[in-house]
Amino acid sequence: MEKRFETIVLHNAKKENRPIKSKVTPIYQTSAFTFTDLEELEGFYQGEGNYLYSRTGNPNPDELGAAVAALERAPAGIATSSGLSSILAAVLAVAGSGDHIVAAEDLYGGSFHLLKEELSTLGIQTTFVSFSNPKEVADAIGENTKLLYSESITNPLLRVENIEAIVKIAKEHGLITLIDNTFATPYHINPYKLGVDLVIHSVTKYIGGHSDVTAGVVVGKEELVAKARAKVVNFGANVSPFEAWLTTRGLKTLAIRMKSQSYNARKLALALKENRHVKKVYYPFAESEAGFGAIVTIELAKSVDVNQFFRSLSWVKIAPTLAGVETSVSHPLKTSHRALPAEAQEALGITNEVVRISVGIEHEEDIIHTFEQAIENSVR
Ligand SMILES: *Cc1c(COP(=O)(O)O)cnc(C)c1O
Repeated sequence: MEKRFETIVLHNAKKENRPIKSKVTPIYQTSAFTFTDLEELEGFYQGEGNYLYSRTGNPNPDELGAAVAALERAPAGIATSSGLSSILAAVLAVAGSGDHIVAAEDLYGGSFHLLKEELSTLGIQTTFVSFSNPKEVADAIGENTKLLYSESITNPLLRVENIEAIVKIAKEHGLITLIDNTFATPYHINPYKLGVDLVIHSVTKYIGGHSDVTAGVVVGKEELVAKARAKVVNFGANVSPFEAWLTTRGLKTLAIRMKSQSYNARKLALALKENRHVKKVYYPFAESEAGFGAIVTIELAKSVDVNQFFRSLSWVKIAPTLAGVETSVSHPLKTSHRALPAEAQEALGITNEVVRISVGIEHEEDIIHTFEQAIENSVR
């Protein structure tokens, strides 16, 4: 019988044959590995296990890459220094100078910037289109297009991508697909199982879960992940053993965190829907009792003083990140989407009144009460 998510999240690694049998993998905080003689060294190059140099491979990053691959039901994975470097490695595994990418116009701000400002200087051009409209995607594909790239749940307005439709278009045109699954996590969506070739995560977010690491991961088809691995090694985008170890530690509770956070998020979304000072609540699948994802984005009504609202949130911190076990809020217009042109902000619906709430594992009633109080305190 295939193991369930809650079990795989804990038991995904190969049983290691270590001389000292620690229950968890130790931190291999070393820059290199040693060899007893030239035969052993030659053995490394013949693929007989062991490690050489931490930039090219280390047990802790390898454990993280394999763990996320197991949860995504993908054959291979490689950990990287950040979510952005995982995107860089994934894109460069597929596209080079002269190639073209079709990407969703509502990508995470940093990813948009990487494609538009940096990869363009390497000769990789990107056309940004609305992925809610498959025809727009298909129309943007040209002779030199190599990659379709989107996010399973978008930031901050939580548009749920139609992954099957994208995979279908990609197959028709012989293209590779890349999905950023950071917001959904493999607990809710498995893009690889839906036919996606490469999946990335900013493991800084839910995979790590405790707001104490910056790291990323690329998982997917073996030959593509091998190419991404070469980019990580050659660009020096490897993650440190300690960061990888911390992330792997955080990952163990992903199932119970997502269960609790998604449940709380839905409860908060339903409560705020009833509030007359909240103009709009973005939350996918609120009808499902278990909830779906732990981000709730709201648009406050004009009757609310937005800055006063942020000041009134007592224990809820303002932080330009998401996904920790503690509830936090961010202001997309002035942080994640600050770099977008004003027309794009407006077209996407990211106004000054939009607040992104990353719901944590506190008691649902305390969360709801705190937001209701903050709104009440800031009505003009
Ligand atoms: C945060 C984030 C990234 C970038 O990840 P870093 O770890 O900050 O480099 C990419 N995509 C999404 C959806 C994110 O939320």
